[in-house]
Amino acid sequence: MENHSDPITRRHFLSETVHGSAGLMIGLPLASGALLWAPVADGAEDPKPAGGQPRPAAAPNANAWLADSPFNLLVDYYTEVPFRPYGSGATRENVLKVLKELRLGYIIIYAKGHSGRTSFPSSLNTQHEMLGKDMPEFFRQVTRETGTRLFLYYSGMVDGIAGTRHPEWGQPGADGKPIQYFREFADLFTAYAMCPRSGYWDDWVAVHIREMMTRYDPDGIWVDGDWAGPCSCPRCRKDPWATVTDEWRKKFRDLVKSFKPACLYSAGNVGARREYNSLFDWRSGDWFSPNNHRLHASIAMRRYTNLGVPYDAFTCDTVFVHSRPHIRARTKPLQRMLQEGATVLANGGLWGYWTYPMPHGAFVPSKMHNAKLAGEFARARKDVCLHTQSARWTAVLDAEPRAGLFGSSSNFWGAAKALIALHRAPDVIDESDLTPAVTYDLIVVPEQPVLTPDTVARLEQFVRRGGKLLSSGCSIRSPEVQKLLGVKLAKAGEIVDGHVMLKSGGTAGVYAPWDRLELAGAEELYPLCRAWDDTNPQVGKIRGCYPITGMVDEENPQKAGFPAATVRRLDKGIAAHVATTFFDTYWKFGNPDMLAWLREILPVLQPAPLFQTDALSFVEVTLRQKRDTLLVHLVNGNPGRDISLVSTDDLWVDDIPPVGPITCRIRCASRPQSVTIEPGATPAETRWRDGILEAVLPRLEIHSCLAIRPWQRPENSG
Ligand SMILES: [Zn+2]
Repeated sequence: MENHSDPITRRHFLSETVHGSAGLMIGLPLASGALLWAPVADGAEDPKPAGGQPRPAAAPNANAWLADSPFNLLVDYYTEVPFRPYGSGATRENVLKVLKELRLGYIIIYAKGHSGRTSFPSSLNTQHEMLGKDMPEFFRQVTRETGTRLFLYYSGMVDGIAGTRHPEWGQPGADGKPIQYFREFADLFTAYAMCPRSGYWDDWVAVHIREMMTRYDPDGIWVDGDWAGPCSCPRCRKDPWATVTDEWRKKFRDLVKSFKPACLYSAGNVGARREYNSLFDWRSGDWFSPNNHRLHASIAMRRYTNLGVPYDAFTCDTVFVHSRPHIRARTKPLQRMLQEGATVLANGGLWGYWTYPMPHGAFVPSKMHNAKLAGEFARARKDVCLHTQSARWTAVLDAEPRAGLFGSSSNFWGAAKALIALHRAPDVIDESDLTPAVTYDLIVVPEQPVLTPDTVARLEQFVRRGGKLLSSGCSIRSPEVQKLLGVKLAKAGEIVDGHVMLKSGGTAGVYAPWDRLELAGAEELYPLCRAWDDTNPQVGKIRGCYPITGMVDEENPQKAGFPAATVRRLDKGIAAHVATTFFDTYWKFGNPDMLAWLREILPVLQPAPLFQTDALSFVEVTLRQKRDTLLVHLVNGNPGRDISLVSTDDLWVDDIPPVGPITCRIRCASRPQSVTIEPGATPAETRWRDGILEAVLPRLEIHSCLAIRPWQRPENSG
């Protein structure tokens, strides 16, 4: 247990309680809003609702301990294989050793998988056919012994048994039958999308929740499968799907909280819009490479950072690929796990280490050895990762109303990817973040299909106050955006392949629809050039990948007659627009020439950026603040190898080469007193000139952080 010389805060108090195994703490709200913390002895049953009366539905700061837990474990032990013993290998000897060594904040185990099978006996007769032991009961006992919080995984809107026994509760597909997922595993189990407004809630999920909450006293419930939908049944289709899912989650959360207010609730990889935010005790998602790029986890963390609750990401220690049944699952190298985990931690997230046990449920020693080292890596960085806030320098706007996380295109993912490559350290926000107090200097509005007049009015105020705006593609369909940008949309998607001549030499091409714009107050920033012979009536016969097509004539470029990009100054600010589907395309292809073009555009908007570095594009930068300290996180995203073997399934990242030295330049209102390299508190070599701090990181392995104390944001800097 650590000793704290500073006054004991509730957070510290709770943290020490958890790690010191002194007992669980139950927060009881008082009328004044203050909290009284009452100890409950180890192993004691959590109080049940007296006389069936729900306890208070709120537990303020119930998630405080979670925010102090940088390293947690997801045991992805599917209940989906009916002909293997489930859980018999998870013995006290096997599990206790791991819990003691890993020093987790929480461990999450399966209560119900997508098959609908439960890891516990249920009155609904849903338990696994070869259930070796009541798994939540077993883990509740051993986690009490180690002071580890216990979370239960529960498949929410996906359930094979419920859908089989009650097809009328399913989300109907085109044939009227319930929509089925994971058909590739149909020999093992079924997984049906379930209707949240059917009897599935009252007669199924609520029964399971009561059983779990009254027997196992979980500290958290993580709901997976809530991404299923939208449901097209008559009950659901009359309302927006986001409304239906919000109602479903509220029912789920409220029932959980009625038994135990301090039991945390989250659903994985669901929408992050603020109007649906209040239900979540933390934000969460599972991101497994190579199915998901490392940047998925990064960008999800950047999406969650301003939501006011802790957030985490599970990164998987095993390579498997849903679409590649011939790949045998094998363990990832530790270095790769550290690279993925560092991405989460640097962005202010908590790291969920996601592992697979043996088929009978025993932890795998070699995987748990890596997990132990990963936990040490995380804890060594907790001072610079936990309880930090984004420095809110640049942002990507995701204003599309919806229930899900992903969006109708990869618009915001691509914009964040590009800004990360250019070390702009973006957050991802929705329009409710656009307040007068916001400190963002640059906001990118990437191909937004829905921009309300109110949202555009907020963007205009942002620009007039001195902000820099960059929009692209279909964002221009909003008449208000056209007015703000000083252009008129004359014809959408007039050509399908456009090029620009870069000022630094060379060209950049975007193979995506380009809009014909007319200037109405804006200036042309780049003229658009056509691809050679793109008006040839037979050009469509050439496959897109044919190497000699879609090329610009560099010696005699053919102007399209309308701009590729425009710029307009408005009061103190500036607004630019790129007239094509730029960011969705960049997400998919990551073309270096597109990035080179953006590298030219951004200095027009931000001539004196707050942060600059000579690091290469694969070094991810995150700017975080903690009290008066600016934390410049650098994550080495180098895969260390040629990844161009398109026709093979060699998708590994193994050796990650260190890079450096890396020089960072940070604008400051006054000269900081100290700059250290963390972890390790090594003083950094620095220079101070004209309000710019220059600091050198000699070598970047996987992750380092420059801690700059004190740091004051300068006025009027980009
Ligand atoms: Zn429905």
